[in-house]
Amino acid sequence: MNSVVTCAIIRKMAKITNLANKIEKQLPAELVNFMQVAGRVATSQGQNLYLVGGVVRDLLLGRTNFDLDLVVEGNAIELAQQLAEINQGKIVTYPQFNTAKLQWSQWSVDLATARSETYTKPGALPRVKSSSIESDLSRRDFTINTMAIYLSPSRYGELIDMYGGRNDLKHKLVRILHEKSFIDDATRIWRSLRYEQRLNFQLGKNTLKLLKRDIPMLDTISGDRIRYELECILQEERPEKVLRRAEELNVLQRLHPALKGNGWLAEKFEQARQLSSPNPPPVGLYLALLAYPLTDEENERLISRLRLPKSLAQALRDSISLKTKLQPLANPKLTPSSIYHLLHGYSSPAIITNSLASDSPVARQHIHLFLNKLRYVKPALTGNDLKRMSITPGPQIKEILQRLHEARLDGKVTSKQGEKELVKEWLG
Ligand code: ATP
Repeated sequence: MNSVVTCAIIRKMAKITNLANKIEKQLPAELVNFMQVAGRVATSQGQNLYLVGGVVRDLLLGRTNFDLDLVVEGNAIELAQQLAEINQGKIVTYPQFNTAKLQWSQWSVDLATARSETYTKPGALPRVKSSSIESDLSRRDFTINTMAIYLSPSRYGELIDMYGGRNDLKHKLVRILHEKSFIDDATRIWRSLRYEQRLNFQLGKNTLKLLKRDIPMLDTISGDRIRYELECILQEERPEKVLRRAEELNVLQRLHPALKGNGWLAEKFEQARQLSSPNPPPVGLYLALLAYPLTDEENERLISRLRLPKSLAQALRDSISLKTKLQPLANPKLTPSSIYHLLHGYSSPAIITNSLASDSPVARQHIHLFLNKLRYVKPALTGNDLKRMSITPGPQIKEILQRLHEARLDGKVTSKQGEKELVKEWLG
C-alpha cells in the first residue's frame, strides 16, 4: 500500500473531515486561489497557516461570509508582507499584536499570529503570547467559533474541531468552552446573545446557567468594550431580537435598569429600517430609539456608562429633549418658519427618532417637511448684497437676513429680485 493511500485510511479512521470542496463551492474563486497560494507561501517560510473563526462556522452552515481570518503559527506579519507582494496588495501591520490586514482589489484578509491569553483580572484585557493553533483556539468564546481549517498544502481543507463545534452547529447550540469564560470576559455574555439570535440557536443549558450566574460580571467591563459589543449588535440584521433576549435575561437592565427590549422597540427598529432602506439605519438612530424611554438623568448615566463619543451622546440628548416639541409640532396650523424654529439645531438621528416615536400624523408630516425641505432653505441675498444696498453693517443686517429667511420659509418670496423688493419695502 502506498503512503497516500495509508494516509487516507488513517484520516478516515480518525474521522477527518475535509472541507476543500465546500471552500471551493462557497467562496469566490479569487479567495480560494489566495488561500491556496497563502498556504504554500506559509509552508515555504516554515509556518503553518489556518483559516479560523466565523468564516469556518459559516462555511459549515452554508452562510455567506467572505471575511477571511487567518492564523499563522509563526509570524503573521512576515507572511502578510510576502502575500502583499504576490497579490500587489497593501498591508497595514500591528506589530504590538503581531497581526496584519492585507487588502487587494475588493478583498481584505486579517492575519494573526497564533496566541494564547491569560486573564489576570476579570474584565481586563488579557496578557497575550505567541503559541500554537490549539492554544489560539482554546482562548475563543464559543465552540462554534473554535473551528479551524488547515491551509498548508499537505493537509489543505482539513477541519480542526477540538471542542465539538460542528456538533453544536448541528444541534444549534451556543456553548462556552469552560466554567470561567464569562468571568474572564463578560463581553461574551452579549456576544452569546448576538450569535444565538443571529443564527436562531439556543444557549447550551450549562452556558445559560453560567450566564445567569455571571451577569454581575458585566460591571467589570469598560464602557468602550461594552459600547463596541452594543454597536456590533446594532449592526445585526434584527438587533431587536438580541435586545429582547437581553431584557429577558436581565442583561439589558445591567446596562441601565430603565432600558426596554419590548414590542415598541421592535416596531420602531423595523420602521427605522424601512426609512433607511436600502441602507441599514445608522447606529445613532437605533441607539436613540433604545434610549428614548429614558429621562434626561437616566440618559446621562447611559452616556457615561457607554462612554459615548460626542456625536452619539448629542443624538441621544437631542432626541430626549425634542420630546417636548412633539406637542407643538402636532398643531396643524403651524407655519413652515415655526416648524423650522422648533426643529432647527437638533441632530438628524434625534429628529428621525422623534418622528418614529410620535403618534401624531401631523407632527410626523411637519418633521418630514423639515428634513426634506425646510432645513435647506436659505435667502438668496447675502450680507454683502445688503451692504451693496447701502445698509450699514451691524445688527440690522443680521435682522434683515433672519426676516428674509422666514419669508423664504413661508413662501412669501421666491426669488432674489423678490427679496430685494421686500428689503426696500421694509426700509420704507
Ligand atoms: P462574526 O460576528 O461573524 O463571528 P467575526 O468572526 O469577524 O464575525 P469577531 O468579533 O471579529 O467575529 O471575532 C473573531 C473571532 O475572535 C471570533 O470568531 C471569536 O472566536 C474570537 N473572539 C472575539 N471576541 C472574543 C472574546 N471576547 N472572547 C473570546 N474570543 C473572542
